[in-house]
Amino acid sequence: MDEILHAPQNEFPLHRRRKGHSPTGAERVERFKEQFSKFREEAADCGRVLRLQGARVFHRAWSAVAGKPKLSPLPFLALSAVIGVAAVVGTVYTPSYVVTVDGADLGLVRSQSVFEQAMERVESRASEILGYDYQLAHTVSYAPALSGSGDLTPVADFENYLFNQISEITQGYVLSVDGQTVGAAADRATLDALLETLSAPYVNENTVSVGYTKNVHITKEYFPSDTQQDTASMLDMLTANTNGQTTYEVQQGDTFMALAFDNDMTMAEMEALNPDVDVDRLYIGQILNIKEEIPFLGVETIETHTYTEEIACPVREVEDSSMYQGDSAVLEAGVPGEALVTADVTYVNGVERERNVTSTTTVREATERVIAVGTKERPSWYPTGNYIWPVYGSITSRFGYRYIFGSYSYHSGLDIAVPYGTSIRASDGGTVSFAGWQGSYGYLVVIDHSNGEQTYYAHNSSLLVSTGDKVYQGQTIARAGSTGRSTGSHCHFEIRVNGTRVNPAAYLP
Ligand SMILES: [Zn+2]
Repeated sequence: MDEILHAPQNEFPLHRRRKGHSPTGAERVERFKEQFSKFREEAADCGRVLRLQGARVFHRAWSAVAGKPKLSPLPFLALSAVIGVAAVVGTVYTPSYVVTVDGADLGLVRSQSVFEQAMERVESRASEILGYDYQLAHTVSYAPALSGSGDLTPVADFENYLFNQISEITQGYVLSVDGQTVGAAADRATLDALLETLSAPYVNENTVSVGYTKNVHITKEYFPSDTQQDTASMLDMLTANTNGQTTYEVQQGDTFMALAFDNDMTMAEMEALNPDVDVDRLYIGQILNIKEEIPFLGVETIETHTYTEEIACPVREVEDSSMYQGDSAVLEAGVPGEALVTADVTYVNGVERERNVTSTTTVREATERVIAVGTKERPSWYPTGNYIWPVYGSITSRFGYRYIFGSYSYHSGLDIAVPYGTSIRASDGGTVSFAGWQGSYGYLVVIDHSNGEQTYYAHNSSLLVSTGDKVYQGQTIARAGSTGRSTGSHCHFEIRVNGTRVNPAAYLP
């Protein structure tokens, strides 16, 4: 209660603190009332106290004569004479005022300004709490009295009394998040229970600590009486989602549309977050921005977990001059080891955010993995394993069934229309297994890529390679034409895997 006016600029020059038991404001007011009524009874008996109406006017007169810090006996006696009060010799009584608020005697002050300043401090503190200029509305009067030096009322008692009269302000416990008030309750347990309700779903037998993603405080203080005190509404505020953003690494098989769907976003929202991304061409490992719904207050828990983890095999490379550079072969696979790991894992609302390994114990060592790596220089004609387009042009017929020459037929490759004489390039390096005329293919080149795959280039006007030649990727092997069963200058391109025609579109970049 003494901490109502805890703002540092407030001082209590007349507030004498007693050592030992510190009575509450209400107790002190009661005690004073008892003392004061006793004093008044005594005063009435002896004629030592005279109460007057029009106290303010009287106060001014009195102040002019006697209201000095140290009252000399002479003016005091003069004053006593004026008001017709006899002073009892041997007892020190000094002039003071009885403060009456709304008809009730509150206490005794040396001067009116003591009480007026107390009112100002209460108004200032109330204004601070309420956020607007607050004015006390009391009827205050002062009646002169004589009192012993120990009879003056501690200023804090007045302040407590006045403050507790303000119905716009309540005392209790306030829950705040990053300085923002969420709500209040009469008792702390209500707010503790609220926070426990929030965190309970994320606490289990491995949980070693529970915290929050923002600064959460419960403080005992005065707050505006209209502050939220409904716990269900407070919980709603704490769990309300705010829009955030996170990133996602594209995995095999992901599509832009599927990712949008999975993350509860429209395509337009997804595109807006990823303006530089070609939605039709995602690649594995690409980082996309994803909308994330973050609750106003996240629960951060730390759990201790112990688990076994594989220890990767150490790799030893052995050079092999019989293999081409870039090629490798596993000589010994090795056996992974096993470790017992203890880690502190941090979660926010159950989603892992951080993992700190606190101890690792090797249960079984891993054995060495031995790999042979080629050192022989790779010839230029050696297949790269990736195909390039033999020519660039518009695709006039795709792989599969089509209607041509008056009937449906199966098209075994890709037709790419190009001007007569265009350079036809080897789609990958390899050995020319056929170069010559072959029926409906016209002038044909077949390249064997020595991995069970062959490429076919048909309808050429002329051939630039011969059977048995080694050709490198991109090497010009023929000129485009319309020989054989063909309706115009184009390149008929086929890929065969172990003799079976496959869709070239699936192999080309
Ligand atoms: Zn064709």
